Amino acid sequence: MEVAETVARARELFAASPRPFGFVPTMGALHAGHLALVRRARERCAAVAASIFVNPLQFGPSEDLATYPRDRERDLQKLEDAGVDAVFVPDGAAIYPAGFATTVDVGAIATTFEGAIRPGHFRGVATVIAKLLNIVCPDVLFLGQKDAQQAIVLRRMVADLNFRNEIEIVPTVRESDGLALSSRNAYLDAQLRAQAPTLYAALLTVRDALQAGKSKSDALAAGTAALSAAATLEYLDVVDGSTFAPAERLVPPAFVIAAARFGTTRLIDNLWITQ
Ligand code: AMP
Repeated sequence: MEVAETVARARELFAASPRPFGFVPTMGALHAGHLALVRRARERCAAVAASIFVNPLQFGPSEDLATYPRDRERDLQKLEDAGVDAVFVPDGAAIYPAGFATTVDVGAIATTFEGAIRPGHFRGVATVIAKLLNIVCPDVLFLGQKDAQQAIVLRRMVADLNFRNEIEIVPTVRESDGLALSSRNAYLDAQLRAQAPTLYAALLTVRDALQAGKSKSDALAAGTAALSAAATLEYLDVVDGSTFAPAERLVPPAFVIAAARFGTTRLIDNLWITQ
């Protein structure tokens, strides 16, 4: 597996890739969710690249940039074992050199839910992905359903700015008790870890209530009741699967989305209703 640390080396490496060429951007701390994206990319593409970059631009001032789990050697080994052909592992100065000034704003879709609670988050995400797409030039960008709003925001950006790649959204990988795999699950102590699957339970409750014909407000109330009383709910809603605009009914494609704090750890999850 080739490892590029500079933009120049990455361009050289990726220009020679067989096509179709798949790309899986990550922030490292890799788990089976990330590796599902790699597996899907390998199924579909002749060559697969990944990146590891903890993007400072998408973290708010009071967020966990400094403590975000980092383990470069372990991550590189996992990517190699998963069959990735080349990895881009830039440092901060390679991506944001002195004088860097241009950012990407995706409009209203990036200002609700995650965008409202984490102002500037999607500007950071869109900016770094725009840069990575211009450096790597893949045919297919693989993104996780786990970060559904991120995927929809990036679909908007790719369409609006005429990037040449497609986007494929890969279903969320979960623990056996339903908790979506996330690098941030590592922050949970045993008690919080035991409470965390209730976020998924809340989503299932909302889906089941809506499918049983309950009103949206009744469904959301039932979902809220399914969440651990020790957790702090930030949002629970039903949104259109293409626009992420709140929806009254569960008409596919749609997402049931939720965010909650378990102690100081913030978790997000969603159900993707496709039919
Ligand atoms: P991150 O390293 O958190 O930026 O995530 C990198 C990519 O992996 C993003 O496209 C995420 O949506 C995706 N991802 C994270 N967790 C999961 C999961 N549990 N299942 C599937 N994809 C995931």
